[in-house]
Amino acid sequence: MRRDALYARLTTLLARLLLPVAALRHRRRGRHVAAQWALGLRFPHEDLRGLAPGAHAAFTAARTEALWRDRQLIGLTSGHRDSAVQWRMFLTEIARTGSEAVARQRVLPPAESAHVVGIAMDVRPVEGARWLEAHGWRFGLYRRYDNEWWHFEYWPGEPPQRLPHAGVSRPNRAPGRRPAA
Ligand SMILES: [Zn+2]
Repeated sequence: MRRDALYARLTTLLARLLLPVAALRHRRRGRHVAAQWALGLRFPHEDLRGLAPGAHAAFTAARTEALWRDRQLIGLTSGHRDSAVQWRMFLTEIARTGSEAVARQRVLPPAESAHVVGIAMDVRPVEGARWLEAHGWRFGLYRRYDNEWWHFEYWPGEPPQRLPHAGVSRPNRAPGRRPAA
């Protein structure tokens, strides 16, 4: 989309303009900080609060590299959600689809949602998501579902299994309890 390409150019330019101040205040973290400032201006409604520390660090590091190296923007549409919000989304999806099984393909109940744990990130735009799908593994970030191009999760150890959708039962994360492959 042309509008996204324009935003990418402007945001990269902005990061470059902010770099001297960021470098002055944050020294070697200057490029990281300038990228976050510029992205914060491009995506003013995003909210990174509540992400698990590892997920937060991985996400900001990945989008710093995406911006400086490849001029790709990655914004956060939805990160951490509290249980009440997740319940509401789940119930709304059940009402919309008329089926709990179908609803689970898009929204999980709080006890199973990676958003509630703070390790899931819904990103935008599509180009940024594509970048993250190609390069995110170096930061422990993986796309999880075939039906959600925007949903990524932080898995610092072994990569997770890619699933058709969230309704498919997940392999147990606890070490040693993984089914023998
Ligand atoms: Zn998600």
